Amino acid sequence: MDAVGMSSGAKYECLLFDMDDTLYPLSSGLNMACRKNIEEFMLQYLHIEENEVPGMCLQLYRECGTTMAGLKELGYEFDNDEFHAYVHGKLPYDALKPDPVLRNLLLSMPQRKLIFTNADTAHATRVLNRLGVEDCFEGIICFETLNPPLEPLDYIAASPEDHPTGSPDTSSRTSNSKILCKPSLEAIEAAIRISCVDPKKTLFFDDSARNIASGKAAGLQTVIVGSSELVPGADHALRSIHNIKEALPEIWEGEGEEGKQVQLELVIQSMAVETVVLA
Ligand SMILES: [Mg+2]
Repeated sequence: MDAVGMSSGAKYECLLFDMDDTLYPLSSGLNMACRKNIEEFMLQYLHIEENEVPGMCLQLYRECGTTMAGLKELGYEFDNDEFHAYVHGKLPYDALKPDPVLRNLLLSMPQRKLIFTNADTAHATRVLNRLGVEDCFEGIICFETLNPPLEPLDYIAASPEDHPTGSPDTSSRTSNSKILCKPSLEAIEAAIRISCVDPKKTLFFDDSARNIASGKAAGLQTVIVGSSELVPGADHALRSIHNIKEALPEIWEGEGEEGKQVQLELVIQSMAVETVVLA
């Protein structure tokens, strides 16, 4: 494989976008609804005390990147796919409308464009479809990309006593697997490696200040979205993704040969939509 044009003189070669609350505003209500569903899951499925749930949900989110990752670290056992199906199953996706302004901006950008989200592929594809931008990205780095199901042999080696018949269900990871997600530096470095980008020439957009700080630590150029104020580690601040052309005109500068999309030999995990999930 070629070195993905790393020797080109373009200022930016790749744009790496968080999705939730970055490509659409927090005011859509999805974030709040998602948190409510997570709290419900903690109560109904994990039988955590009702008065402890809200505080614990927030604390684990802050400390571990996602509440799900925190619950796993505490030793709670549940199926990752069932968790995602529960917390995303009832989200008010109708609140997301096609965004032709965003679509036109994305299509006019000459760089490679990838999604980097902690969400699972089902949620990511649904959101991108609702926004009408599903075909604007080369790929999606999501939960399944960074936390792939174990191979049958790995699974057996990890917990032989759980599956004496030797025919385990490998549709999801073992229930106590550590979750890899933003803002861990390891997750961001994995995303850089998987997408074969030069971090110095990659702009990373995210609405989370801690993700931006980790992105900067990983060597990325960074843009905090949803804030007009810079946060530690942010090179740029964007109140809305719609303001991108005014705030970052350099994305469109030098458009030409150097801005051509490059094809990568990436393993395709899902073809649910035209955009591929990277694994
Ligand atoms: Mg976000």
